[in-house]
Amino acid sequence: MKELLIIGSGPAGISAALYAVRGGAPVTIAAKDGGALEKAERIQNYYGFADGVDAKALLAAGVEQAQKLGAKLRRTEVFGVEFTENGFRAKTAEGFLDAGALVLACGTARSAPPIRNLKTFEGAGISYCAVCDAFFYRGKKVAVVGGGAYARSEFEELKNVVEDVTVLTNGDPALEGFPCKTEKLASFEGDERLKEVVFADGSREAYDGVFIACGSAGAFELAKKIGIASENGKLLTDERRMTNVPGIFAAGDCTPGMQQIAKAVCDGMIAGTEALRYLKAQH
Ligand SMILES: Cc1cc2nc3c(=O)[nH]c(=O)nc-3n(C[C@H](O)[C@H](O)[C@H](O)COP(=O)(O)OP(=O)(O)OC[C@H]3O[C@@H](n4cnc5c(N)ncnc54)[C@H](O)[C@@H]3O)c2cc1C
Repeated sequence: MKELLIIGSGPAGISAALYAVRGGAPVTIAAKDGGALEKAERIQNYYGFADGVDAKALLAAGVEQAQKLGAKLRRTEVFGVEFTENGFRAKTAEGFLDAGALVLACGTARSAPPIRNLKTFEGAGISYCAVCDAFFYRGKKVAVVGGGAYARSEFEELKNVVEDVTVLTNGDPALEGFPCKTEKLASFEGDERLKEVVFADGSREAYDGVFIACGSAGAFELAKKIGIASENGKLLTDERRMTNVPGIFAAGDCTPGMQQIAKAVCDGMIAGTEALRYLKAQH
């Protein structure tokens, strides 16, 4: 059977892994960290814990359970997902991971950087996906906003197509080896389309396009790269938790509904079971 790749090691990803691996699928979980539960303290409303449970202990117990059953955990950041002849390939900080099916369990969308008029120019000069939109900026001048590994990856995607690309780190240190501006950004300006970036020190620079790549790629950004339908930043699925892309499932906070552990675990159970069924049918 082909590999099931699960992106995320929170309750949704781990629950998907438990069901898939117990059903016989080879499972790899790629996750950069523990997700929302790392920020939580005591969980008082989860089934079976009359006195509550320490959030980090609950998280660690789930990861241990999945690993004990045979799921492989890779602590790495995923930058993008693409189609291959045999299924899918994820681009990570440590190379590529191939899979026959995917479960996206990446948690809730990141908050966008607080830069004035960001929303105004989304889709009109502001993009969240280099691989999707680079082509429109051939021969033009663009910038990537971000200061980490994901910004570097988006820069490299753009550089394949667009000559003039700068990284705007928005106050973060310069990325070594990349053309950077480190001033903080104050606002985006233009008319129907973005025309320029205004920096906190009052200076301005004209750009035809700006690609937002702050922090890591969230579910929304990963989904966009491979054509998964979303609404209000959440990935849409059917009752099997399968997205509009056959073989790609989504579970937990990255999908619509309550942002709670119980819901993430339930989603993961369904996504893991259905991904297993999908892989068996391909066999
Ligand atoms: C402070 C706080 C308190 C909470 N209290 C409660 C509570 O009391 N009860 C309750 O039921 N719920 C609570 N929640 C909500 C609960 O934690 C979430 O609903 C649940 O963790 C969602 O699970 P998930 O697996 O969908 O996402 P997450 O747990 O957020 O996991 C997301 C995973 O995706 C990974 N990931 C994301 N992007 C990438 C990428 N590009 N590359 C690699 N990996 C990636 C992350 O590293 C992580 O492993 C709380 C949340 C917070 C923040």
